[in-house]
Amino acid sequence: MLPSEIERLVKEAEKARDTAIVPYSRFRVGAALITIDGKTYAGCNIENISLMLSFCAERAALIKALTEGEKRFRAMAVVSGDGRYCFPCGSCRQMLAEFAPGLDIYLASPKGIKKFSVSELLPHRFQK
Ligand SMILES: [Zn+2]
Repeated sequence: MLPSEIERLVKEAEKARDTAIVPYSRFRVGAALITIDGKTYAGCNIENISLMLSFCAERAALIKALTEGEKRFRAMAVVSGDGRYCFPCGSCRQMLAEFAPGLDIYLASPKGIKKFSVSELLPHRFQK
């Protein structure tokens, strides 16, 4: 992706981060997913009083895209609200590996942007 495209995707993730519902952890995360056709789907983390039911920004964005019929993805940007790089959790890595195996993942912080492939983040995913 071009640097300007990555920047735009990071901005989408930052916008989504602002809608995070995190009354317990106060740890805001935003993610933005872009398809091969250039459509973007953004998500934020959402906590629930039963913390086990909380939902990550990465999966929120992915589920939004999947429920709209999207199947081919190009990249995802992930940002947190505390200035550190926010790596996707294990559940998100598994979902991304299954539904978007060729995805480039850009983790953005005030220090810069780091790029990872899904297989770098989850080299031995669960498969049947
Ligand atoms: Zn997650």
